Amino acid sequence: MVKMKKGEDKNMGKVAIYPGSFDPMTYGHIDIVERALEIFDKVIIAIAENEEKRPLFSVEERLQMVRAFFEDTPKVIADSFKGLLVEYVAKTNAIVILRGLRATSDFEYEFHMASMNRSLNTHLDTLFMMTSKDYFFVSSRTIKEVARLGGGVEGLVPDLVVRRLKEKFKLPVTKKKQIRWDD
Ligand code: ADP
Repeated sequence: MVKMKKGEDKNMGKVAIYPGSFDPMTYGHIDIVERALEIFDKVIIAIAENEEKRPLFSVEERLQMVRAFFEDTPKVIADSFKGLLVEYVAKTNAIVILRGLRATSDFEYEFHMASMNRSLNTHLDTLFMMTSKDYFFVSSRTIKEVARLGGGVEGLVPDLVVRRLKEKFKLPVTKKKQIRWDD
């Protein structure tokens, strides 16, 4: 009998955990998930419950958006966790932590986190995927800033996220507002 390695559960296959705030999920995140599915059998999007970051969306709202977007993709599971990521990972059968890298500015933080996680659990590796050229400038933070000021973020986040942002910022959920000089 072939002995299953950790992360090679016969029901789950190879599992990666993609942790983050996802406040809200953008096409930058989605692009990383879709590319990771070429390598892994399952990707768990793990939403960190961290009130210190003063999130715009509650964990339930973020989970709901991720689940709605991936409802036809059973290979993607959405979950949330509190506390140390390594402890959460230990409860699953994931083999790696997945993270996305945008510009050099992401590198230092990601390098520290990956090194810290590896020092907490020497068996745990972090896999980085480079952002795609279409989304290198997309971050949840700038999406929220632009949306709050009424700017269009269509094409950078899924439509269901566009609607949620408009609801949050009490902006009309209808077509783009035409602004005339005499308005
Ligand atoms: P965190 O608060 O943990 O940084 P985020 O939701 O902001 O959570 O990001 C989660 C992960 O997704 C991070 O590794 C981040 O670098 C990556 N990521 C975010 N936006 C993009 C993007 N546009 N392209 C590639 N990776 C991204």
